[in-house]
Amino acid sequence: MPTPHAVRGDITQARVAAVVNAANRAMRGGGGVDGAIHRAGGPAVLRDCVERFPHGLATGDAGWTTAGEMPARWVIHTVGPNYSAGERDRDLLASCYRRSLEVAEEIGARTLAFPLVSAGIYGWPKGDAVACAVETISASTADVDEVTLVAFDDATLALVEQHLR
Ligand code: ADP
Repeated sequence: MPTPHAVRGDITQARVAAVVNAANRAMRGGGGVDGAIHRAGGPAVLRDCVERFPHGLATGDAGWTTAGEMPARWVIHTVGPNYSAGERDRDLLASCYRRSLEVAEEIGARTLAFPLVSAGIYGWPKGDAVACAVETISASTADVDEVTLVAFDDATLALVEQHLR
């Protein structure tokens, strides 16, 4: 498994096989990166969510849908723990990265881009969210070629680069 690399940008525009979405348990869209992915992908993403995940997904789990109109082929939706609501089990956050990588391997997505799961609206402290992402991706044995961590702003990019060194 290659170590992840970092870029700053909008994950919806990433030229990868699969983009990962920081979804919620209902899987019917939301704010932050989830909203951006549903807007960029168009109605096909929600249609697929409803069809494939009628009961949503559990925290720490992941599942795929089409990416609709985005450059990627798939969205891998994962549900991070809501730190602000008291969900602070770090293994659940690590599980989001592990499960997403497993799903990528299952569908044959060789390149994927992750946002910082739980580090926005869900309030996971950013430094630890970055550490958890880098550790878990680096330790994975999933058969994929390239993993990108997408930071949405310069400060977050600097933080990710610091952890990768
Ligand atoms: P959560 O609810 O899991 O915290 P958020 O979407 O609120 O998810 O935030 C997760 C991370 O994704 C945050 O660091 C946020 O800044 C970032 N983010 C938001 N929109 C985008 C985007 N279009 N591309 C990449 N990262 C994004």
